[in-house]
Amino acid sequence: MHPMAGHLAPVWFSVTDLEVVSGRGSWVTTADGTEYLDCSSGIAVTSTGHCHPKVVAAIQAQAARFIHAQVNVYRHDLLQPLADRLAELTPAGIDTFFFANSGAEATEAAVKLAKQATGRPNVIVFSGSFHGRTHLTMAMTTSKTGYRAGYQPLPAGVFVAPFPDLVGVPAEEHDAVVDRCLAAFDHLLASQTAPSETAAVVLEPQLGEGGYVPSPPRFLHGIVERCRHHGLLFVADEVQTGFGRTGRMFAVEHYGVEPDVIVMAKGIASGFPISAIGASAELMARWPTGSHGGTYGGNAIGCAAALATIEVLTEPGFLDHVVERGRQLTAGLREVMADDPGIVDVRGLGLMVGVQFAVPARVAAVQQHMLREGRVITMNAGTTGAVLRWMPPLTVSEAEIGLALAAFGAAVKATAG
Ligand code: PLP
Repeated sequence: MHPMAGHLAPVWFSVTDLEVVSGRGSWVTTADGTEYLDCSSGIAVTSTGHCHPKVVAAIQAQAARFIHAQVNVYRHDLLQPLADRLAELTPAGIDTFFFANSGAEATEAAVKLAKQATGRPNVIVFSGSFHGRTHLTMAMTTSKTGYRAGYQPLPAGVFVAPFPDLVGVPAEEHDAVVDRCLAAFDHLLASQTAPSETAAVVLEPQLGEGGYVPSPPRFLHGIVERCRHHGLLFVADEVQTGFGRTGRMFAVEHYGVEPDVIVMAKGIASGFPISAIGASAELMARWPTGSHGGTYGGNAIGCAAALATIEVLTEPGFLDHVVERGRQLTAGLREVMADDPGIVDVRGLGLMVGVQFAVPARVAAVQQHMLREGRVITMNAGTTGAVLRWMPPLTVSEAEIGLALAAFGAAVKATAG
């Protein structure tokens, strides 16, 4: 049991038993003054680090002007600037936005838009994906049974196609594995959900909770081609991959594909709960006025935090820094892998890097060692928890990555054999 358990629902699982009192940059501090290097970023959220001065100032200033200006009642003066900024940043074709509060809500909103816009009932998702904790997004989530157990039956109309697993597969066989997954997708359309009944395909460009697995380019392109061919909307769930996490503003840019709908949350506002979906004005116009909404969507402080976050993420050289730190991290992790047969893969885009171990228990042991001896906070991912995932703040320094790698190397050595 977590030491801070009184009056708090035990439904929250705990990655650490820390109680933190402040955060700054890549670090969080506990009541006794101990500092921890936060390589979780609060699950890939604190993109600009904890309490970035520009984000703090924007939140403070906005709190004094307006906290809640309910969007149906009146519109505050940051909604339009945020939509304008997102239109500049998101992939071509996306220029119109709806705001919500969490990733799950935004994913649900994307599905609701797709259903209304196409008049079709079903969606296709991929094995290993995670889209949230509401009933619909649980139905779309197959990264772990723990997310669904005890809640079934879940909403119908969600069909799951296989996502390629290339770990341990020789390079010359990768295309064949991908092609089998694409054939299975075609089979799904022929056997379970006809294109005329399928509104959208929802895909994480890099699986997040499912184990930090980037889509093979051949796979992503094959899926997008099929969406175009059958008139299915292609929805990119960039809740975890968006806002610079992969070294590009959005992960789809690595693949040169343009989604019909993009789902955004987490890193958008450095920790303030705001999420969004974007689509073309033409697609959004097919979503009848009043058929969706929410009390808090487009919250004024959330918009201020998002605008300040975007200002930081778009500073010259910022994304180059993410790419550089990602390379440093990946190279360092691969060096450790070379000396330990218990590590079977290091992969990922930018600062979204997974280390897959042969045995899940080893991940837990490595995490514990890093926390206690190195004061480094990490999380796991993957269906069995066999992946140690790295998602430090995008502002992480070279020296901080060096510290994290040293703690990882020591933990891997200490837990070997
Ligand atoms: N989609 C993806 C890809 C995610 O990683 C997550 C959360 O981890 C969600 C959706 C759900 O977001 P939230 O927890 O804000 O509801």
